Amino acid sequence: MVSAIIVAGGKGGRMSGPVRKQYRSLGTRPILGHTLLPFGRCDEVEKIFLVAPEGDFDFCHKNILSPLGLQDSVTLVPGGAERQDSVHNGLLAIGGKEKNGIVLIHDGVRPFIRHEQIMACISGAKEFGACILGIPAYDTLKHADKSGNIDKTLKRGAIWLAQTPQAFQYELIMDAYKTAKDEGYVGTDDASLVERIGKKVKIINGSRLNIKITTPEDIQLAELIMNGEW
Ligand code: C5P
Repeated sequence: MVSAIIVAGGKGGRMSGPVRKQYRSLGTRPILGHTLLPFGRCDEVEKIFLVAPEGDFDFCHKNILSPLGLQDSVTLVPGGAERQDSVHNGLLAIGGKEKNGIVLIHDGVRPFIRHEQIMACISGAKEFGACILGIPAYDTLKHADKSGNIDKTLKRGAIWLAQTPQAFQYELIMDAYKTAKDEGYVGTDDASLVERIGKKVKIINGSRLNIKITTPEDIQLAELIMNGEW
């Protein structure tokens, strides 16, 4: 049993404009529509939870889910103040026999995720308990002080840049979330919560095209990828 939580509860603070970034058009559909589709089409994924700002539920039904034919199969869950709160709300919405299964957590603003990458994450979580996508760091990594002066060049050999989906056995990620909450820890991804309770997380090759649309520049990049001009 595999569930997917797609987090799109952000209010888009780093990108101004009348439309939240997850709803902006990319080709023929909103970014979030592109993101949802491969999960909706994946036979292995039985339940999808879309985390969105509560005030946007009607908008999401009408403009995101209905055009994809997913209005009856996707459960909307209210977002929280931080990404971690939004994921937590998604995890709490999972019930019944799904609690014995695998949960995939994916950013709503990563529209270029592919079926085979979703499947690789699921297989990894089945085998290892926790498995995420990432890409090895290819650029040289610098650490700079507050004035913008480099104080260190990091060894990049073992450095990966984490992506989503991140897949976990449900019990394991719930345990990690509970500990983080009890201890007031806020991480920038879900795997870090599992790492800090001493459990192993496998990282496997994602794709450089699996970008997270964060800044206006990323929209330009996404259009190039979409049009095959990358
Ligand atoms: O802010 P960041 O770029 O890390 O957001 C990654 C994903 O997490 C986005 O899809 C965003 O909508 C989601 N998010 C959320 N709830 C928040 C903040 C971000 O679901 N409070």
